[in-house]
Amino acid sequence: MKILQVLIQHTTLKLNRPFTYVYLGNKKVERGFRVLVDFHNQKLVGYIVDICNSYSTKQELEEKTGLKINDIIDVIDDNALLDDNLLILADKIADYYLASKISVLQTMLPPTLKPSLSSLKAPKIAYDEYVYVVDTSEEDLTPKQIELLRFLKNNNEILKKDIKSKSILKKLIEIGRVKIKKVEKSRLVLDLKITGYEKQLNKDQQLVFDEFFQSNDKIFLLQGVTGSGKTEVYLHIAKQILSEGKTVLILVPEISLTPMMTQYFYNRFSNEVAVLHSELTSAEKYDEYRKIASGKAKIVIGARSAIFAPLKKLGLIIIDEEHSESYKQDNLPFYDARQVAIFRSQIEGCRLILASATPSLESRARASKNVYHLLRLNKRINHQILPTTTIINMLDYQNIDRESYIFSKTLRSEIRKKLDKNEQIILLINRRGYSTSFACRSCGHVFKCPSCNVALTYHYDDKMLKCHHCDYVELEPSECPKCGNNHFIKIGFGSEKVYEEVKKLFPDARVLRLDSDNAKIKKTIKKTLESFKNHEADILIGTQMIAKGHDFENVTLVGIVLADIGLNKPSYRSSEKTFQLVTQAIGRSGRGNKKGDAIIQTYSPSHYAITFAARQNYDLFYQKEIQVRKEGYYPPYCYMARISISGKNESTVVENAYVLSLKLKEKFLANGDIIGPSSPYVPDFGNNFTRVILVKYRDIKLANNIFKEILVPLVEGSNLKLSLNIDPYDF
Ligand SMILES: [Zn+2]
Ligand SMILES: [Zn+2]
Repeated sequence: MKILQVLIQHTTLKLNRPFTYVYLGNKKVERGFRVLVDFHNQKLVGYIVDICNSYSTKQELEEKTGLKINDIIDVIDDNALLDDNLLILADKIADYYLASKISVLQTMLPPTLKPSLSSLKAPKIAYDEYVYVVDTSEEDLTPKQIELLRFLKNNNEILKKDIKSKSILKKLIEIGRVKIKKVEKSRLVLDLKITGYEKQLNKDQQLVFDEFFQSNDKIFLLQGVTGSGKTEVYLHIAKQILSEGKTVLILVPEISLTPMMTQYFYNRFSNEVAVLHSELTSAEKYDEYRKIASGKAKIVIGARSAIFAPLKKLGLIIIDEEHSESYKQDNLPFYDARQVAIFRSQIEGCRLILASATPSLESRARASKNVYHLLRLNKRINHQILPTTTIINMLDYQNIDRESYIFSKTLRSEIRKKLDKNEQIILLINRRGYSTSFACRSCGHVFKCPSCNVALTYHYDDKMLKCHHCDYVELEPSECPKCGNNHFIKIGFGSEKVYEEVKKLFPDARVLRLDSDNAKIKKTIKKTLESFKNHEADILIGTQMIAKGHDFENVTLVGIVLADIGLNKPSYRSSEKTFQLVTQAIGRSGRGNKKGDAIIQTYSPSHYAITFAARQNYDLFYQKEIQVRKEGYYPPYCYMARISISGKNESTVVENAYVLSLKLKEKFLANGDIIGPSSPYVPDFGNNFTRVILVKYRDIKLANNIFKEILVPLVEGSNLKLSLNIDPYDF
């Protein structure tokens, strides 16, 4: 008989301990296998964390422990899901982020292998399910249903899984407006041909390469200006690592960047490359996962969760655009892939490169203290000079005329010049939608979200008002609910309005738009970017999606339509984010043989985030910002944790939040700052109430112990929902 220690699939901290089961059968069963168990009369999936042989019988065991011990129902796997190193990693993450171990395992494993019941239903043969409209009548539909119906009508061949509003879709199917078509699919096929050839490193790149291999350090920060050829350095270093019989893991911040990175690596290493990101189907992920675990793939490229790729003999992890917010997961277990990469490199004894043109303040500060080894690429490849940048003060009326309030005279004339020379233009506007608010012209009533109380954004594409905090939508009103008037004004502007304005000002230009509204379907991103790269359009308008990483040789003008968006947000990172976004965007200009220009329109022309971004001068920005952080006592001068407590009863929530805040103060004393409880920045939805406490501290170990001591019992004793976010990206 075998005695098993099993974790149960539920992720709450209450159940974060192993339960004892026995197994009398003769299937192979080991640590790291999933088993089907009976847990309080519920059939659940469990995960074996420990196992031992027992020579006593089950009855003897029960008598000895005084507990009733169940048999497991069945053994699910015939191989351990994770190897020893990944198990150590799981423990490390669970401890650092104070998350239940099962939630960490569920995050680390692909859908088909997760320790949860849903994994057992995962498809063995995969089908694609397409949605198509059979009846366009909008009669008797709710605004939400109409929104989806119009969206489906405007787009062909949408995959069912790409549609977020599952319940609305289900309703539309029930009432016969849309149907589903099932098509058997082939699993992941990388639609790639070898297009490039191996390039030689230039002198600067070679110096970085040599310094990397001559050093015994483990963690590197590669800081290279935009267009300095970091990718080529990755390729050469990766080749060397592979030749030593080791494997390489590369993370990119956004799914939109995976195709490009995959292409570069495919050119050199073809089928040794595997891809892992959230847009793969369960079946594709399963296939890629097995390809990696079996050792067939030696290079993995992917987004955040690819940090858990089961590569053996890992020799190098590269985190591209390391400053990106997308490396931090915003729900349980709230991990940051950069932190996990550090753990993993320690466990595997491998090297880690964090790379960016605009490193996060934390990483750069560590490099300054030699915790990370700083490598630099200060020049663009082929000695292209950085773009010439002009800042336009939008408050100065001399810069604007009646023709447009969105585009200054200078930006308009520069766009005209580039169009005449048949060169391409990128316009960045980091806000989607048409207008930022929608109001009655007669009484001034502003349409607001009923649950968040923020102004609704008007969306021209589907003629709807939408909340950008929650997913509330309503139809464009025909009359004002306050005064009955039917004239409205649209205030402020977003990407849709900029698109319309460009069409009006430059009717001869071919224009594309890319933002998260029209990029809901995964092919749109790739198609739009490819089409722009092939010069099938002259102007690309987009949100931050278009600012990072892309390499368009014929772009010689980048216009930042309004650089201030985000600068006034209540976050200690607002300057850093603005600097990064503007610098990255400007960096898209002049990457080919022609010299580039950039124009920044702003209401804060002398803000340091803008002036240093205009000069592409990270170091000056860093010196100024690190001072600001020091004075305000923010990371990297301290660590932070955000605790949020929520529940249905507001007074219980508030009371508990105050008690918790006092307890934290008692425990931390002078070793931490406790701020709050306060209401969250994005207000409460519906009948759920939340209070947030922020803790700043310098001693990670001490904080970890205090959180364990205080928070775990609090969760166990109440119906409140508590979440702890260690190192939140923002607040
Ligand atoms: Zn009105
Ligand atoms: Zn809302």
